[in-house]
Amino acid sequence: LGSDVTLEEEAMPVTGDEDDVLGGLDIESTADIEVPDRLVDQVIGQSHARDIVLKAAKQRRHVMMIGSPGTGKSMLAKAMSQLLPKEDLQDVLVYHNPDDGNEPKVRTVPAGKGEQIVDAHKEEANKRNQMRSFLMWIIIAVVVGYSLFVGNPLLGVLAAGVIYLAFRYGARGSDSMIPNLLINNAEKQTAPFEEATGAHAGALLGDVRHDPFQSGGMETPSHDRVEAGAIHKANKGVLFVDEINTLDIRSQQKLMTAIQEGAFSITGQSERSSGAMVQTEPVPTDFIMVAAGNLDAMENMHPALRDRIKGYGYEVYMDDTIEDDPEMRRKYARFVAQEVEKDGRLPHFTAEGVEEVILEARRRAGRKEHLSLKLRNLGGLVRVAGDIARAADKEFTEREDVLQAKDRSRSIEQQLADNYIERRKDYKMTVNEGSAVGRVNGLAVMGEDSGIVMPVMAEVAPSQGPGEVIATGKLQEIAMEAVQNVSAIIKKFSDEDISEKDIHIQFVQSYEGVEGDSASVTVATAVISALENIPVEQNLAMTGSLSVRGDVLPVGGVTHKIEAAAKTGLDTVIIPKANEQDVMIEDEYEDQIEIVPVSHLSEVLEVALAGEPEKDSLVDRLKSITGQALERKVGP
Ligand code: ADP
Repeated sequence: LGSDVTLEEEAMPVTGDEDDVLGGLDIESTADIEVPDRLVDQVIGQSHARDIVLKAAKQRRHVMMIGSPGTGKSMLAKAMSQLLPKEDLQDVLVYHNPDDGNEPKVRTVPAGKGEQIVDAHKEEANKRNQMRSFLMWIIIAVVVGYSLFVGNPLLGVLAAGVIYLAFRYGARGSDSMIPNLLINNAEKQTAPFEEATGAHAGALLGDVRHDPFQSGGMETPSHDRVEAGAIHKANKGVLFVDEINTLDIRSQQKLMTAIQEGAFSITGQSERSSGAMVQTEPVPTDFIMVAAGNLDAMENMHPALRDRIKGYGYEVYMDDTIEDDPEMRRKYARFVAQEVEKDGRLPHFTAEGVEEVILEARRRAGRKEHLSLKLRNLGGLVRVAGDIARAADKEFTEREDVLQAKDRSRSIEQQLADNYIERRKDYKMTVNEGSAVGRVNGLAVMGEDSGIVMPVMAEVAPSQGPGEVIATGKLQEIAMEAVQNVSAIIKKFSDEDISEKDIHIQFVQSYEGVEGDSASVTVATAVISALENIPVEQNLAMTGSLSVRGDVLPVGGVTHKIEAAAKTGLDTVIIPKANEQDVMIEDEYEDQIEIVPVSHLSEVLEVALAGEPEKDSLVDRLKSITGQALERKVGP
């Protein structure tokens, strides 16, 4: 598969110091960084997808890209179109069909020829019209002269009018012989890139406009009403369809036909329009399809279409993060330069400004020693920061502009979460001092990138019948599961029989959009506290999932959760040990909050419970029983 596409050498000034944030890049500002010309060389990370695009362009294969938004799918599709040979491009002409006006003829010619043909037709029609109008005026002159001669000028004027109209009508007829230049690639520098995301049928498959007159000499000839769809415009280039599953099934089917046949007739898409009577000869649709979407896009996609791509092309998964090494950090610096140049109006970034962007990429990765590849969002940050600097008439975008931009470019969820935190502080709804029985500060994630403190309260009461778990709101399921998990442990160490009690669990102020999958450690702690009547420290929050054996399992969003706890004014946060490496909180919070990684519920209780003697005895009991449980597991 030897590709004749070579990768451009990196041309960046590098000192020896690879440990710093810029990976040893020696620049004053991003103006010193050279941005490669070809889009494919501008792509950061995604080496797998990039290789596939290079290969697929060469072999003319379809590609399916699955992954998170803003990771470069459309960028790669566009890059692919730049790799296709421009020499293959074609123009498409639609002609009137004298045998059947409703079946216009289609001709394909090399790019640039289309315009010439249309011009030639126009010129001929012009000449013909000139001849006609010359003839017309002579006839009119003769008729008018004759009418004057016989002494009836009125009749002469009338006759002249009739002759004039007849000739105009004839001229229209000869105009209708001029072909419609449906696809014009004369000016194209690269193969076409057509985006058909969420396209309605007409935009995707072409259309024939309605003609309100349809007859009587006022009508527009049908071939002139034909409009190309994205599948036709993409001929010899790339058709990019994002969110492929949102395309209705009929359109997907037709898309498949176009791929199979390499050509697709254009007809009116609206049944009641006169355009629906028209159907052209097949128009070429020899494109490479790049279909994109997230994971569930694949499930809702027409299976035959997916098979088609699988059978005749490649499928590739996009990376969300990439390993953080000096070379990659230098590329991120180049990314900032790229985004600045692409925008065209932003001031270049100082080295410190770039550093702050890279730190943010690190933070957003949510994974130790990785950088986030959700580069559309990061590009948004670059633009906001640049706009701030530009508004202040600065020569360069500086670190403080990036910091300000970070604050401004918070997601809706982040803004909401911050709002809640502020409001709750006002009303002192979040308790962050002292201790309380049955009340635990849990942590949840809103949206993708913001944490929130979500207190859980548990109360245990003797039950009349069999014990029940009663929870408020949508979190019933989570509560039940957490209680079930913890009940096995409780049974072993507690004298209380949990199955004879009603356990009420309340999620204090839960919000729309809050996910509670990681609340089981919180619920368990609240229940144990209530059951044993031992208070829980309130200057502390926790997150974690729980196994039936009391192991604390990893959860998502720890960084955001920790930051929420810090913002709320809490002192300690308990997280699963397995999440320790995901913590990437911002410097400003680092001194504010102590992070305690734990791997077992007994450790959670040791940190979270207050009131020494009872607590110690409880933790000891718990340790002994789970220790036993563990040993038993190991034994034969
Ligand atoms: P997707 O199609 O995956 O949603 P796009 O390709 O539209 O994402 O990305 C939007 C923008 O974000 C691009 O135009 C580019 O500026 C930037 N971008 C995204 N991914 C990358 C990448 N891997 N390398 C460089 N820039 C990227």
